[in-house]
Amino acid sequence: MHIFEQENKFQVIVEKGENLVEKLTEVANEYKIKGGQITGLGAIKNVELGYYHLDSKNYHRMNFGEKDFELISLNGNISLKDGNPFIHVHASMGDEKFEVFGGHLFEAEVAVTAEVFITPLGVMPERQHDTQIGLDLICQIKP
Ligand code: ZN
Repeated sequence: MHIFEQENKFQVIVEKGENLVEKLTEVANEYKIKGGQITGLGAIKNVELGYYHLDSKNYHRMNFGEKDFELISLNGNISLKDGNPFIHVHASMGDEKFEVFGGHLFEAEVAVTAEVFITPLGVMPERQHDTQIGLDLICQIKP
C-alpha cells in the first residue's frame, strides 16, 4: 500500500494481493480519520458482497471466488463505531461480459490495483445499534 497525503486528502494505492477493507481500516486508524468520504476504482477478486434483508435482519452474503472483477465503483464512508474508525463501503464490479454486480462490500482482495481517495470530514459521525433496523446506524454527528 502507498499513501499520498495532500491538503488533508489521501490517495491510497492498495496493491495486488492486499485486503482492501483491512488496508482502508489501517489508513483510518493510522491517520485518526474519524469521519470521511471514500471513493475508488481498480480490480478485485475473492469478493464477498452482501444484500440486507430488513425483514429477517440478516445479510445474504455471496462469495464470488477467485475470479477477477473490475472494481467499477467503490463508494463509502468512515465513521466511529465504539470509538474506533469504521469503514462502510459498497462496491459495483463488472465481469468480462460487462455485467455488473454490486452490494455491501464485506471482503475483497486487490486483483491488480485499487486507487482510492479518502477525504476526511471535519465532523465525527457516530454509529449505534438500531434494534428496529438491526444495524449500526449513524445516529449523531459530532463537531
Ligand atoms: Zn452497507
